[in-house]
Amino acid sequence: MIGYLYNPEAYLHDTGMHLEVYERCQQIDDMVQEKYDVQALVLRRGDKSDLLRIHDESYVDWIEKGYENGVRMIISADTIVSEGSYDIALATATSTKSAIDFFKNGGRRAFLNLRPPGHHAEIITGQGFCLFNNVAMMAKYAQDAGYKKVLIIDFDVHHGNGTQDIFYHDRSVFYFSTHEKNNYPFTGEKEEIGAGEGRGFNKNMPYEDYISDEDFLALFDALPKDFEPDIVLVSAGYDLMRDEEISSAQITFKGLAQMVQKIVDDYHDKPIAFILEGGYNLASLVKSVDITLDILNESDL
Ligand SMILES: [Zn+2]
Repeated sequence: MIGYLYNPEAYLHDTGMHLEVYERCQQIDDMVQEKYDVQALVLRRGDKSDLLRIHDESYVDWIEKGYENGVRMIISADTIVSEGSYDIALATATSTKSAIDFFKNGGRRAFLNLRPPGHHAEIITGQGFCLFNNVAMMAKYAQDAGYKKVLIIDFDVHHGNGTQDIFYHDRSVFYFSTHEKNNYPFTGEKEEIGAGEGRGFNKNMPYEDYISDEDFLALFDALPKDFEPDIVLVSAGYDLMRDEEISSAQITFKGLAQMVQKIVDDYHDKPIAFILEGGYNLASLVKSVDITLDILNESDL
């Protein structure tokens, strides 16, 4: 049975009029409750000190104290801190540990329906709707639990500059990203391959505008064959779908299904967690997650 994590209080991260809103997670949850038998994971909030393993203390302090005057703080043009944001973002990043515990107890597939997203959050700052880097936090917990070699696959249409930043010098975490080249945050060149000890453990697969299913799927042939992970964490951003207005990518539900299937086929015997990143067209998002859960369910048999 798939492990599933959801935070019904995530609306307390109040972004106002924004693309990244609570209804995203809520509508996914409505679908999940209606269609799937899942094992509900307990939302256990970790400590601030956990965040300091991936973020600079001055940045975390700034977010914690950011909301003071009854006014939402804007930390970059598109990234909001409201009264409840720190608590929710902390809970989101640190409750990823529940999925690691689930794997340690024999679970094999998990989906984390959480917000705010995380992959744009760098060591010293958040941006791009992201406050703390959830998938990076999860990778740390995975390593604590003995999953020493972590593969992060990021198929969000935007490059996960934050995740790349956090693990750029680290050979124990391989970061693999497919993303639209001419899109925010304009990082993720092929030449960015990691540095120092981490050189060769960062792989970017940028693509041109209006990418088709066929060309997109071909990018996944470049998944690292010589990195044998103990666990696979997927930064699942569904803003690459055809009906999304935030990119020009033309990925169909069929193409998405083929990509998800390839991931679970390639890493069939590993624990695999999908953690929500982008995806803003609600109908497209819910259907995309539905497709993902269906495939995860099948591969868990
Ligand atoms: Zn995105």
